[in-house]
Amino acid sequence: MAAIEEGKVSDGLAGPLDQMECVSFPPVNRFAICGGTHGNETSGVYMVREMQKQKIEKVGSVSITTVLSNPRAVDACKRYTETDLNRCFTDALLSAPITDSTPYELRRAHELNAQLGPKGSEEAVDLLCDLHNTTANMGLCLIFYSLDWITLHIYKYIQSKITSVPVRAIQLDIAPSEAYSLEAVGKHGFAFEVGPQPNGVLRADIFNMVKEGVDLTIEWLQQFNSGSTFEGGEVEAFTFAKSVDYPRDPATSEIAAAIHPQLQDNDFKLLRPGDPIFLSFSGETVKHEGEELYPFFVNECAYYEKKTAFHLARKSTLTFPSIRVKKD
Ligand SMILES: [Zn+2]
Repeated sequence: MAAIEEGKVSDGLAGPLDQMECVSFPPVNRFAICGGTHGNETSGVYMVREMQKQKIEKVGSVSITTVLSNPRAVDACKRYTETDLNRCFTDALLSAPITDSTPYELRRAHELNAQLGPKGSEEAVDLLCDLHNTTANMGLCLIFYSLDWITLHIYKYIQSKITSVPVRAIQLDIAPSEAYSLEAVGKHGFAFEVGPQPNGVLRADIFNMVKEGVDLTIEWLQQFNSGSTFEGGEVEAFTFAKSVDYPRDPATSEIAAAIHPQLQDNDFKLLRPGDPIFLSFSGETVKHEGEELYPFFVNECAYYEKKTAFHLARKSTLTFPSIRVKKD
């Protein structure tokens, strides 16, 4: 319902969905595909390198820019070298002056913002898709900030075409100025988060999910730009609610438990009060308390340093209008 409310405000829509007007958007011609924002998430690294090798720069009406976002971290096969690049794209960090002590990744964020943005400007690429892997069993996820009709339509399209793995959407309720990840630089943007895949490892099944997602996005853009009308509808999305840390030793702050086997690999399976979430090293089970929520990023390797064992989300239904390209 939130989407309808939002539609009323931003697009002058009124009434229930079947009476919604078709909303028109300018063509989505300039598409940036980024990989290696985290240097040890290999699907995006090899996807971008392959597209560069094949010189894929234009597909029909869509001009394509491929970017290896964090080459230094890719070379080192690390998530980052000095600071997490995918936390550097807030308005505050992008407008901070560069000094001798500015970390490499923040310098890189400024370069990427100049190349693909500037964030929030007319010059920004029309769509930015950033390719990520997770060690969690999340299948293919689209992660985005605002309720963006273009992104929701692409999501629905991909979901209708890929049936071999679950395709889900995760919405982060964060204002554009605070949006910290690379996809926020585009006029429209989302991340593909695909797993499970260990850091530094390349798996063909996971690579193919990423490739299918990218190919279907390009296919959708071509159909949209050539005048197809995409019918409105609704999709399910998971909205971030909160993060859960590991139980810790109060004296040392070291973790004192692992993800419980019943939670491991069960991303997006509803957690009810009393369901096991951790197994302590002394053999005690820690149970979920409070409201029923959906876990995701369960046992994500990169989140140990962020003191996050998993995130929890609420499931909601997002309703969106029919859209078509705006004719000059
Ligand atoms: Zn990542």
